[in-house]
Amino acid sequence: MRKSNDFDGGIDFMSMKSNQTSSKLNVLNTPKIFTILVDDVVVIKNKIVVNIGQIVLRGQVLALGYKNIAPMHSPASGLITQITNEEFKFFSNKRYSVINIQSDGKDRWINRTPIHNYKDLSVNKIIQFIYNAGIVGLGGAGFLSSKKLKYSIKKVHTLVVNAAESEPYVTSDDCLMQNFATEIVQGCQIVMWILKIKFVLIAIEDDKHLAYIKVHDAINHLSGFEIRKIKKKYPSGSSKQLIKTLFDQEIPSGKHSIHLGIILFNVATIFSIKRAILNGEPLTERIVTLSDKDALYQKNFLVRIGTPVKHILLENNINFKSNSIILGGPITGFIVDNVNFPILKTSNSVLFLKSSLLKYELEQPCIRCTMCSRACPMNLLPEQLYFYSKSRDHDKSKEYSIQECIECGICEQVCPSNIPLLTYFRKEKLKINKIILKENLSTKFKKLFLSRQSRLRSLESINENIILSNSILDKKFEENLILDKKIENLITNKSQNIRKVELEAAINRAKQKQKLNKCLIDRQ
Ligand code: SF4
Ligand code: SF4
Repeated sequence: MRKSNDFDGGIDFMSMKSNQTSSKLNVLNTPKIFTILVDDVVVIKNKIVVNIGQIVLRGQVLALGYKNIAPMHSPASGLITQITNEEFKFFSNKRYSVINIQSDGKDRWINRTPIHNYKDLSVNKIIQFIYNAGIVGLGGAGFLSSKKLKYSIKKVHTLVVNAAESEPYVTSDDCLMQNFATEIVQGCQIVMWILKIKFVLIAIEDDKHLAYIKVHDAINHLSGFEIRKIKKKYPSGSSKQLIKTLFDQEIPSGKHSIHLGIILFNVATIFSIKRAILNGEPLTERIVTLSDKDALYQKNFLVRIGTPVKHILLENNINFKSNSIILGGPITGFIVDNVNFPILKTSNSVLFLKSSLLKYELEQPCIRCTMCSRACPMNLLPEQLYFYSKSRDHDKSKEYSIQECIECGICEQVCPSNIPLLTYFRKEKLKINKIILKENLSTKFKKLFLSRQSRLRSLESINENIILSNSILDKKFEENLILDKKIENLITNKSQNIRKVELEAAINRAKQKQKLNKCLIDRQ
C-alpha cells in the first residue's frame, strides 16, 4: 500500500494546544449531584432498571442498552434522587431523559471482575463484556464498539488507532497517551486477539511529541505495532481522511473502512476496552480538556460521565455567567445554554470564552467565492449544498452528495459571508435521513404486503389442487372398487367353474365305478 501522507482540502488551524499542560492529568473533586442522560428510546422501552430512592454503587447498571444504544452505569455510589422526563436536546433534537444521583462521597464500586485470561474465553463472550461495559466510540461518533467488533470478525487485517485529535484546543487524547501508553497497547492486544489481527498502526499528529515518545516506547519491542506521524491538519482524525493519509485509499461512498479490511478505533476507546476487560470497569469516566479561548488556561481532568459542566467551571473558579460554553471541540461541538448539562461519553472538551466574543456575525448572501469548495476535505460543493438545503430541494442535495459531508465545519470557518453552513447541512441531512427512513419503511411494508398476497395466492392454488386431487382420488377409488368387484366376480366364477368341473369329474368317476361293479357282478 502506497503512503500518501495527506488528503485534499482541510485547514491548518493555529495550534491552540499547550504541550506542557497536556502532560498532567488533574483529578476533579466528585460533584454532589450527577446527571445521567438516558436516550428517550431506552425510556420508552422501559429499560431503566433503578428506582427513585434506590442506593446504587459505582459501575452499577442504571439503564440497559437497546439496539445501537449502550447501557449506562452509575458514575458514583449514592442515592437515585430523581428520574424525570426533563428533556435535554442537542442540535439534532435528539431527546434525553434524566437520572439524578446524589453521591455519598464513598465511591463504593460494584464487584469488579477483571478478565486476565480473556484468551481462554470465546470471542463472543469478550465482545459481550465490552457491550455490557457500555463502551462506545469516544472520538465523537458514539457508535457501539461491540457492534463494530462483531461486524469486523474475519473481515479486517489491520487495526488503526486514531490518535490524531486534530481539532483546536482539545488535548485529552494527547494527555491519555502520555499517561497511559502501556494500557493503550494492552487495549490494542485485546482487539488484535478478538479479530485475529497481526498489524496495528497508531496514527498521531506530528505536533504531539511527548505522546509519540511514550507510545513509541510502549510498543518498542512488540511485533506487529507501528506508530506513524501525520501532518497536523484538520480534520485528519476523520476516518475517510485518515485512511487516505495512511494508505492512500478512498473509503467508497456509503461504505466503511472495514470494507477495506481496516478497523479504526479512537485511542480513548481502545483505553476503555482495556479497562473493561482487564480491570472489569464499565465506562464511568474519561479525560476532558478544559480550555479558554487563548489556550492560556488549559488543563486535562479525569471527569466522571454525568458531571455537570457547572461543577467543572466552579471547581476551576470560572465564572459561568460571563462565559459562553462549548461542549466538545470548537468546530464540531455545541454551545450549552444550560450549565447543568452533563459530560457525556463523547465529550472530550469544555471550551469557555467571554460571552461578548460569541456574538454572531450576521449571515450575508453567498458571493460564490468558492472558498468553501476549495477547503472541503470531501471534495463537495458546499455553496451548492447551501442553496439546495435552504430551498429544501432534498433531491438536489442528495444528488450533490450531502450524505458524504463529514460535518467537519471547515466550509463554515472559511466562509466570508458568515453563513452557518454546517447548521444548514446537519438539518438537511436529518431531513433526508427521515425521508430515506420513510421510503425504506414504505418499501418494506409494500414488500410485506406483496409477499402476503403471493402467500395467499399460493395458498389458494394449493387448496384448489387439493380439491382437484381429492376428486381425482375419489374417481380412482371408485374405479378401483369396480375393478375389485370384477376381480371378485371373476374369482367367484372361476371357483364355481372349478367346482363344476370337479363335480362332473366326481360324477364320472362314480359312474365308472358303478359300471365296473356291474361288470364284476355279471361275470360272477
Ligand atoms: S462540513 Fe461538509 S461540506 Fe463543509 S467542509 Fe466539511 S465535509 Fe465539506
Ligand atoms: S465560502 Fe461562503 S460565500 Fe463563498 S461560495 Fe462558499 S458559501 Fe458562498
